[in-house]
Amino acid sequence: SSQRVLVSACLMGEPVRYDGAHKRLESTILQRWRAEGRVVACCPELAGGLSVPRLPAEIEPGAEGHAVLAGRARVLDRQGRDISVPFVEGAVRALALARQYGIRVAVLKEGSPSCGTGHIYDGTFGGTMVAAQGVTAALLIQAGLRVFSETQILEADAVLRAGQPGSRDS
Ligand code: SF4
Repeated sequence: SSQRVLVSACLMGEPVRYDGAHKRLESTILQRWRAEGRVVACCPELAGGLSVPRLPAEIEPGAEGHAVLAGRARVLDRQGRDISVPFVEGAVRALALARQYGIRVAVLKEGSPSCGTGHIYDGTFGGTMVAAQGVTAALLIQAGLRVFSETQILEADAVLRAGQPGSRDS
């Protein structure tokens, strides 16, 4: 059967963002994946127990997802509440889902403190981004998945189609 791919639920049009919005990705590749039954959608923040709407959250200044997973940094909401636990729980659940389906490729929403793969906000809630990974992106990468942002879906598609079971080292 087709290799599946983990996709941020907000990219699939699900209204799961902190503000109740989605970030539907208009993409023929994504439509094809859907038609092929490859897509496994996940919102790590909801999977970790957060709700919609919720306050915006950022990883503490100077830190990124790996540090949160290691307990060396926190995720804070805009009121300063420590919400590291649901973020880590959401990452663990996203990885469990990936393992359940034998998934090795993920396409995650760039810029999110959970899903960001190349950039996240810098922790000051001032709108500045830094090159870093969110908590779920970091855990999936640690576990050996190939993780892409929505702007890299072509690349993700190439890896997905090349990487049928047994054809790659892992
Ligand atoms: Fe989208 Fe990920 Fe944020 Fe959920 S945690 S709303 S899937 S970016």
